[in-house]
Amino acid sequence: MIESMSSRGSGEAGSPMPLSPRLRALEGRLRCPECGKGRIFGDGAVELVCADCNSRFGIQDGVPLLLSARSRGELRSDLQTETGEQMVAEYQAVESSRRKPRVASRWLRILRPPDVMYHTNPGMRKGAASRVFDHRGPGTLVLNVGGGPTRYSPHEFTLNLEPFHNVDVVGDAHDLPFTDGTFDSVISNAVLEHVGDPEVAIAEMLRVLKPGGYLYAEVPFIFFFHGYPSDYRRYTREGVRRMFQGLADPEIGIAIGPVSALLQTANMVVGMLVPERPVLLRRVANGLFRWLTFGFKYLDKFLIKKERSHVVAGGFWILGRKPASDDRMDSDSATSVR
Ligand SMILES: [Zn+2]
Repeated sequence: MIESMSSRGSGEAGSPMPLSPRLRALEGRLRCPECGKGRIFGDGAVELVCADCNSRFGIQDGVPLLLSARSRGELRSDLQTETGEQMVAEYQAVESSRRKPRVASRWLRILRPPDVMYHTNPGMRKGAASRVFDHRGPGTLVLNVGGGPTRYSPHEFTLNLEPFHNVDVVGDAHDLPFTDGTFDSVISNAVLEHVGDPEVAIAEMLRVLKPGGYLYAEVPFIFFFHGYPSDYRRYTREGVRRMFQGLADPEIGIAIGPVSALLQTANMVVGMLVPERPVLLRRVANGLFRWLTFGFKYLDKFLIKKERSHVVAGGFWILGRKPASDDRMDSDSATSVR
């Protein structure tokens, strides 16, 4: 295969990468997940190549597949579990329902039982959202680790394990395929419970964040097991504070309140008490429970303001900045855990 030498040596984008137009903003900022040193360039054909170790990476429908051989091996065994297969099926269902929305599915959506959880999600909404998504104007570069199939902002680049709907880059949270200080903000929404080593993942998020950039994360506490593709842990509020001690000026809040946590748990228990078949009976029991109880979730609007609520909250959010000076979080400490 003929390689574009001009692009490889100089660090300039000599040959156009056969990537989606969205990824132009990241040109020259993709880092090799295999050696962690080289930058990634187009080879003028259908693959990407590392300027340093010559590793090659595929592209699927414009999405670069930037996983090391080690990550690919670990991912394969995670996705072959029962919950891993369910996750892939669920994400693919999102994609096919968006491609051809059917009238029947629209009615099913309207008739679907209400959610028993009240979710505050402040980092993804207006107010705090403008800090996360827009603090450097319309050119704000945001990375959503574990993002897709929902895209929250046009400035957002999503990274996930497979090229699902609305995924821009395939990569591993333990080994983000971007150069240091690429992004203005990094989001991680209910992802850290699913990664093998959350401390490595956080160090990586801080590494790819610009000094002064925002990090927004949500993690579960009193919340049922959910494999995406697996599920390894829960966090107390103090655990969140400790885990993100590299952030300057952290704000921590309750993302899912105590009543939502209680209703969600009760909903799961009711599901266990009802026989598996017929399926209609399960659906009726589930719908009945949700319609009868969902109104109580609004008590959380008040409860999340109470200090004591953290002891039985469903989950927490944290928003903070990467220290502007490199004294607390220098690039050596970020890379030493690799
Ligand atoms: Zn390399």
